[in-house]
Amino acid sequence: MKLPAFGYHRAESLGDAVAVLTEHGPDARVLGGGQSLLPVMALRMSNPSVLVDITTAKDLQGHAFRDTDGLVVSAAVTTRALETDAETRRRHPLVVESLAQVGHPEIRNRGTVCGSLAHADPAAELPALLLALGGSVRVAGAERRRRIAARDFFLGPYLTALSDGEVVAGAELPLVSATAGWSIREITRRSGDFALVGVISVLDTDSAGRCTDARIALFGIAGTPRRATAAEAILTGEILDDAVLAEAAAHAFDEIDVVGDIHGSVTYRRRAGTRLVAASLAEAAARSQSEVESARA
Ligand SMILES: Cc1cc2nc3c(=O)[nH]c(=O)nc-3n(C[C@H](O)[C@H](O)[C@H](O)COP(=O)(O)OP(=O)(O)OC[C@H]3O[C@@H](n4cnc5c(N)ncnc54)[C@H](O)[C@@H]3O)c2cc1C
Repeated sequence: MKLPAFGYHRAESLGDAVAVLTEHGPDARVLGGGQSLLPVMALRMSNPSVLVDITTAKDLQGHAFRDTDGLVVSAAVTTRALETDAETRRRHPLVVESLAQVGHPEIRNRGTVCGSLAHADPAAELPALLLALGGSVRVAGAERRRRIAARDFFLGPYLTALSDGEVVAGAELPLVSATAGWSIREITRRSGDFALVGVISVLDTDSAGRCTDARIALFGIAGTPRRATAAEAILTGEILDDAVLAEAAAHAFDEIDVVGDIHGSVTYRRRAGTRLVAASLAEAAARSQSEVESARA
């Protein structure tokens, strides 16, 4: 299907992008990699009058590791560029493994990290990653710049706390501790598909094997990614033996109204998701204990 007619502005800077978005109001949209927006336009589900292309804006390029904010990724950074960055693989391997789950390499070559966050697909990996890490997005608008924590950013399917005219200028992905173990797992029909159910786990343990921090983010199961708070509470402060891990997995979907669709029923997502969480927790716990052993050696 051909795209409807639209105006196009290639932004030179973040300020330029915000100015054009403000001038055109709600009919203008940011164009990142276009991997979600252009198909949606082709299907006539969105018909913006102007696309503001931020991909070559000079102050929206690159990423950096910061002491306070962790890995900071600017809006024009593509998924593939970060996925193939050697320093990111070394210092934040969970990020690289999460990026590698996003669609296919062709999609990741164009799609941007911040575009995926702004798009807020409930089955997408990167919103869940931001939530699991306790990260934030940096937002710029005509009146103010602000930082929005992941827990406040994702409001519903394809719905965020962004106001008209605001741009996600960057994302902050805090590092995990040196003794933390992590895991990302998802169930898809085919390689590269969106997840029917997915989980990102980050577990930290001490030298006795006791859990000092547990973070579990589920995706593909509700209108937004969700933390499995009941399971996290079961794990925290406990020795992570098989029984505790199994109990946590059994309670992973407590307090979550799981959504079913033509791809998977509520029952399927809960049952398959519980097994997925169990495997993910076991992997994260083993990785953490391995890190603790390495630190001790
Ligand atoms: C075949 C296929 C398979 C895919 N599989 C997956 C998958 O498995 N997992 C997954 O997570 N994604 C998947 N995607 C989506 C892909 O990751 C997209 O790249 C991503 O969701 C959007 O990023 P983008 O940069 O292309 O954004 P665009 O398509 O350019 O924009 C998407 C939306 O976000 C807005 N936007 C973009 N950037 C910004 C910004 N900086 N500030 C404010 N608003 C912004 C746009 O206005 C638009 O509303 C798939 C896509 C395709 C076509």
